[in-house]
Amino acid sequence: MLSKYFKSLDNKKVLCTLCCRSCVIRENETGFCKVRKNIDGKLFSLVYNKPISINIDQIEKKPLYHFLPKTKTLSFGTPGCNFDCAFCQNHDVSNSKKIDLTKIKEFTSDDIINLALENYCPSISYTYTEPTVFGEYAFEIMKKAKKLGIKNIFVSNGYFSKDYLDEILPYLDAINIDLKGTQRFYDTLIPGIQVKQIKENIRELYKNNIHLEITNLLIENYNTKEKDIEEIVDFVFSVSPKIPLHFSRSFPHHHLKHIIPTKLETLKFAEKIARDKGIENVYLGNI
Ligand code: SF4
Ligand code: SF4
Repeated sequence: MLSKYFKSLDNKKVLCTLCCRSCVIRENETGFCKVRKNIDGKLFSLVYNKPISINIDQIEKKPLYHFLPKTKTLSFGTPGCNFDCAFCQNHDVSNSKKIDLTKIKEFTSDDIINLALENYCPSISYTYTEPTVFGEYAFEIMKKAKKLGIKNIFVSNGYFSKDYLDEILPYLDAINIDLKGTQRFYDTLIPGIQVKQIKENIRELYKNNIHLEITNLLIENYNTKEKDIEEIVDFVFSVSPKIPLHFSRSFPHHHLKHIIPTKLETLKFAEKIARDKGIENVYLGNI
């Protein structure tokens, strides 16, 4: 599908404007996420109508604990991600190079909406990988869902562009953003990402009254020092102490097979820092 999120540059190059990576893509090449391709000087989505996974989840699994509690949410995601986290638990689908996109069964926006209706799901979650990279597909579904009173939920790494955020804001009801660590943490495990862009997006979402919860995955010896946790907590507090904060346990995965599962005492330590600081709702996940 032809994207509307790009600018034409010289020599048939394009600038993708969907996320803060701002890939400049040459003809016949794809951007970092590998699911957006420059064909003849125009940008196309390769994953429009192509979910790799569709499930009905409890909303608490997203995790969202303060939005439509104890309900089910129709959850789906396409291949591709604009990050390449060394600890990714979904790398089989987030790394689209491993997937033959032409073999994925198509589900139109109406098919997704009908699945939500048939299964009595009051919300749709755009999740599993990064919804931004299937931005056109997500936006089309969001508009239809809104008309029917179905809520739209993003589970995101928060690296969408300001342009895309402005587009989805009127249709977005709730979001969980994975704020993974300090700039040093991103530099070590997800190079090329500027955490200040994610923090700006979080502030913007809060300002626009979108229901917001934040998750921080704790990885032993990477982001579990007191000052690492304090930086996350201080930022969340500075936006609002009312934002629910989830500390999540990590397990060995992908390029981080050598790590140990996060210790329970580390999770409790993080919880205490957050509560002492004044964060009102702190949760521990994956335990
Ligand atoms: S959505 Fe993909 S192609 Fe576009 S800027 Fe982000 S990583 Fe690059
Ligand atoms: S942002 Fe999420 S889906 Fe994407 S690579 Fe990182 S952990 Fe995987």
